[in-house]
Amino acid sequence: MGAERERVQELALPFERALGPSKVRTDLATRAAHAGDESGHADVVPELVVVAESAADVRVALRVAHEARVPLTPRGAGTGKSGGCIPVCGGAVLSLVGLGALVEIDRDELVAVVEPGLVLGELVAAVEREGLFYPPDPNSLAECTMGGTIAENAAGPRAFKYGPTRDWVLGLEASFVGGEHTFTGRRTAKGVTGYDVTSLLVGSEGTLAVVERAFLKLAPLPEAVVTLLVLFASVTDASLAVSAVLGARVRPRCLELFDHATLEAVRRAGLSVRADAGAMLLIELDGPQAGALREGERVGEVLAPRALEVRLARDAREAEELWAARRLLSRATRAMAKKKLSEDVVVPRRHLASLVREAELIAEATGIRTLSYGHAGDGNLHVNFLWDDDEQEARVPLAIERLFRAVLALGGTLTGEHGVGLTKRAFLALEHSETLLALERRLKASFDPEGLLNPGKIFPRSHAAC
Ligand SMILES: Cc1cc2nc3c(=O)[nH]c(=O)nc-3n(C[C@H](O)[C@H](O)[C@H](O)COP(=O)(O)OP(=O)(O)OC[C@H]3O[C@@H](n4cnc5c(N)ncnc54)[C@H](O)[C@@H]3O)c2cc1C
Repeated sequence: MGAERERVQELALPFERALGPSKVRTDLATRAAHAGDESGHADVVPELVVVAESAADVRVALRVAHEARVPLTPRGAGTGKSGGCIPVCGGAVLSLVGLGALVEIDRDELVAVVEPGLVLGELVAAVEREGLFYPPDPNSLAECTMGGTIAENAAGPRAFKYGPTRDWVLGLEASFVGGEHTFTGRRTAKGVTGYDVTSLLVGSEGTLAVVERAFLKLAPLPEAVVTLLVLFASVTDASLAVSAVLGARVRPRCLELFDHATLEAVRRAGLSVRADAGAMLLIELDGPQAGALREGERVGEVLAPRALEVRLARDAREAEELWAARRLLSRATRAMAKKKLSEDVVVPRRHLASLVREAELIAEATGIRTLSYGHAGDGNLHVNFLWDDDEQEARVPLAIERLFRAVLALGGTLTGEHGVGLTKRAFLALEHSETLLALERRLKASFDPEGLLNPGKIFPRSHAAC
């Protein structure tokens, strides 16, 4: 038997004893299918995959990981963009897709109870059938799991009005390295008992606890949605328009910006956009029928003097066509080069045009193409780097660091939704003070003293093995 096979069997044995062999996979095909995500980071093949079928399995896996000192990396659908579920220190991947139940929709209390492997899009569709609304809408909603969205505090276009996932999580059932578990938070509309551990766990990137069940807030489904597409000559005009909308005392639920290079990708994806347009805003408003329409018209009036064209979607089909182009962007732009990296930086909204300009300057200086689009209402833009060969690749770290330094100089923050994971761990100290970093490390150690849960993420040098 080869040394690799021996090591795999040695690590798998205590898990197999505790869970039975059917829930512990050591074949290469399964291990390789749990090695990567959508971050562009190199895959790391784990020694074993634990396929949890119940909360009890999760706790057993966490107990065995502790007893046998095996690193354990939780995983949902693997759509993460910061390398969060890549098992960089080896060991076990804990797959949670088998816990996929929508446990309850409580119409009276406006609460949904879900298991972590439930696909977000299934929850959204199910509550909408009941006339209810769960707003967080990352563009991966057809694939990503609730556990992944909670761990990353994911957010999409609607976060402008409704906030990210954290604003919709009332309570969690969570388990910890060693196998202990607890309920955090509440399922009532209000409650301030003790520290807000629920909010700490949301966005902790699977480094503090494994989410077994979540209690989510719901809202009534808005009666109507109005979509506008507004074209501008330049990103500067579009950025000024964002401020104008905010000043007009209306709150769209989405305010998405596309820069010049992104419009090219949109055109290639089949949407007809006039040739002189250098930027676009896609705006969505919701509420009672008459109110949403009135607000849509008001936004149109405010933007008309700065815009080349204001187009109000005539019906739901036309609105869906406009959004389809937005949802396609991540993958359509990936096809534009051999390699693509999507950052998710945030700046104060008044600096959006400066951010896009800085990305263009980086492109000129490094020869790496950039395009920027995203959630302008939140000041959160996806600055994408595109490159084709090794020579360009060598300059990518320089481009990233220059972008991050520019973002911080503009008063911004490094990640608005994808998390730190692997991709930004080397840059955390640019944004967080030494005092804050030390506090964060102490927090991690109080949950997981040996650094076994999702090691290697958020902090550089968090585990001896990586
Ligand atoms: C095309 C595309 C578009 C995207 N658009 C957006 C967007 O608009 N907004 C946005 O925020 N993100 C977006 N993402 C990123 C990604 O989809 C989200 O981060 C999503 O929340 C990840 O969910 P997942 O189930 O795939 O998690 P995974 O990638 O499997 O894991 C992500 C992290 O969650 C942890 N984790 C998973 N399950 C649990 C659990 N039960 N308990 C504890 N930790 C757990 C993992 O350890 C890992 O650290 C996009 C990705 C793609 C590919």
